[in-house]
Amino acid sequence: MAPYRDMEVRRRRMVSDQIAARGIKDPQVLKAFNDIPRHLFMDEALWPRAYEDHPLPIGDGQTISQPYMVAIMTDAMGLTGSEKVLEIGTGSGYQTAILAKLCDWVYSIEYIAALSKRAQAVLEQLKIFNVNLKVGDGSQGWPEEAPFDAIMVTAGAPEVPRPLTEQLAEGGRLVVPVGSRGIQTLMRVTKRGDELISEDLGGCRFVDLVGEHGW
Ligand code: SAM
Repeated sequence: MAPYRDMEVRRRRMVSDQIAARGIKDPQVLKAFNDIPRHLFMDEALWPRAYEDHPLPIGDGQTISQPYMVAIMTDAMGLTGSEKVLEIGTGSGYQTAILAKLCDWVYSIEYIAALSKRAQAVLEQLKIFNVNLKVGDGSQGWPEEAPFDAIMVTAGAPEVPRPLTEQLAEGGRLVVPVGSRGIQTLMRVTKRGDELISEDLGGCRFVDLVGEHGW
């Protein structure tokens, strides 16, 4: 079987067995996972493992998250196609690409310049142009572009970063892993007027969010 065909088969199996079978039902979310070639966001040596059910290294001590975790976080954002989204922790750019398929525009911040540069190249290769990437401390958000309809943090924070709730639009959702180093609870915080409504979406395990409002 030709290698690209084999990757497509593995990707479809990942979506059905790891994502849909575990309760993610939104057809647009499932389509985005079927459409984005996850293997391109990692070194070619890892391509045979690209569709396995766990995180994988992307260099600089960082990881591309488990497909199911990317799916839970994406689903929790409740995107309908018109949103302006902020992502903290571009990493490989895989989550960025999934978000770009589901909203109007993605702003994504990565702390490590080499990762951001690689992510940009893959996104361009895939002709995904509704994204703005920048290098910096995402724990402070992107105030010049606020407010955002949804914000996702793909690294574990000691507490919900205040600048991010301040940069949410009315009705906006922030999805963020919060807890101790190495083990966190995935939280969804929704802004309703002056109120912030927090929901616990379950346990998770992320690399550290660094920076002013991180570790
Ligand atoms: N979403 C990514 C993907 O699909 O490949 C995975 C992200 S990885 C689990 C977490 C990323 O957050 C790392 O690349 C790390 O460098 C980045 N990060 C940690 N603290 C950050 C901060 N304060 N600002 C921006 N990025 C940060």
